[in-house]
Amino acid sequence: MGPGLDFVDLPSLSAAVHDCRRCPLGHSRTKAVPGVGPSDARIMIVGEAPGQNEDLQGEPFVGAAGKLLDQLLRGIDLSRADVFITNILKCRPPGNRDPLPAEAEACSPYLEQQLRLIKPEVVLVLGRHALGRLLPGYESISRLHGKLVVKDGVSYIPIYHPAAALYNSFLMGPLEQDFKAVKAHLDRVEERRQVLAAATAPVVKPEEQLTLFG
Ligand code: URA
Repeated sequence: MGPGLDFVDLPSLSAAVHDCRRCPLGHSRTKAVPGVGPSDARIMIVGEAPGQNEDLQGEPFVGAAGKLLDQLLRGIDLSRADVFITNILKCRPPGNRDPLPAEAEACSPYLEQQLRLIKPEVVLVLGRHALGRLLPGYESISRLHGKLVVKDGVSYIPIYHPAAALYNSFLMGPLEQDFKAVKAHLDRVEERRQVLAAATAPVVKPEEQLTLFG
């Protein structure tokens, strides 16, 4: 990571993304799209790159794929306000072409830092570009979708990109199933947390309870 790319919080990271010229996309974009969501989000969602609408508004997933994402989140009792959403690239590639490896490489410190600052319980990896970047050398999205992958202490669940499901409706069922896998994972994490909290809670003896309450 280069100097000055070790951020203390998400706002300072976002400010740096808005000023970023680490690759040529920093000169062609309208607005940079660092990502949105709470710094203590349990879920982090990583897409590919901003498209036209995102480039104009400076927010990720504001188009049709974003609407589908919202719907899928609602299906597991979550909303956009509960998750942190970002992309591999923080600036739009011209004409929505695929991200170039050099662009993804230049942009990667931002995503690494977002992961470090947010420490999500699960990272949803949307589509093959994000998969290739976050879990290089792993199986294809068609084999890995819906499965939990733990790498370097981070839990990932790759899923089909919502834009792919809008294009190929046969992917919609698997995508909905994958969100159920996400919910099951979060429920397991919560259950473990509660067991741990109960195990480490101080034991109050009956005679102490009496002095405490009466
Ligand atoms: N919008 C985004 O922000 N990212 C994508 O990958 C697709 C649409």
